[in-house]
Amino acid sequence: MIKLAIHGACGRMGQRIAALALQDEAFQLVAAVDRSGHPLLGQDIGSLAAGKEVGVKVTDSLSADAEVLIDFSLPAGAISCAQFCRKEGIPLVVGTTGMGEAEKQRLREASAKIPIVVAANMSLGVNLLFKLAGQVAQALGDAYDIEIVETHHRFKKDAPSGTALELARQIAQAKSWDFPACLEHGREGKESLRRDKTIGMHAVRLGDTVGDHSVCFGALGETIELRHSAHTRDTFAHGALHAARWIANQPAGWYNMCDVLGL
Ligand code: NAD
Repeated sequence: MIKLAIHGACGRMGQRIAALALQDEAFQLVAAVDRSGHPLLGQDIGSLAAGKEVGVKVTDSLSADAEVLIDFSLPAGAISCAQFCRKEGIPLVVGTTGMGEAEKQRLREASAKIPIVVAANMSLGVNLLFKLAGQVAQALGDAYDIEIVETHHRFKKDAPSGTALELARQIAQAKSWDFPACLEHGREGKESLRRDKTIGMHAVRLGDTVGDHSVCFGALGETIELRHSAHTRDTFAHGALHAARWIANQPAGWYNMCDVLGL
């Protein structure tokens, strides 16, 4: 059994990861951590996430008892996890998005000492889409315009989504375009003609949408669309637990979900 801690445990993702980990014999949930001042501190995570008390209270301090830590919080939370895990030698899975380059660099530094999986999207389907988007972009050549449209729930803080940015990065890499300079976020005004060698990026915020991503390629005469739709957060939560099982036995290093899934 892997002793598991969840950071951001009271959030939408944290609670689903807790609920699924409690049903999974591979894990013993030893800590549920959220930010100082969170109104649910002190509550039993089993009661919160799965309707059954399990004797693990939500706290605001990380536990060295854990053998793997999963973080779905905010960038500052992910950084504090990385510092803690580096000090204690605990493997870390980071699902938090919206990190800037400086924050990613802090995680990379920690990965010299501990294994870290960082993935903007933990679903198998989206990680396949990352590969496909690059391959399709390369095969189609420069006659095709490329636009990415992502839709998420109204509570999502960062935009565009980490997944949309990763899709664009894969395409830019396949086409040897400068990333993120090739991005064109939204379009407005009288002088908004599409520019060559750019990827249009559009973030829609709509109700309770879990997460939709479309990569559209259009030329004069045809359109191709690669689309992924997540119906439930459990898709990501299962992926995070899969990554936690995988990383428990890996050497120090920087890994993504393609490494975990062997893609
Ligand atoms: P949420 O707002 O519902 O939950 C975030 C939780 O983290 C909250 O309970 C909040 O109190 C807590 N938190 C914030 N700062 C903290 C800190 N410094 N220390 C400890 N806890 C802290 O958000 P969510 O929908 O659960 O998403 C969380 C993150 O995961 C977002 O960045 C989101 O984009 C990302 N996400 C990633 C994937 C993936 O597959 N990688 C899937 C869904 C969401």
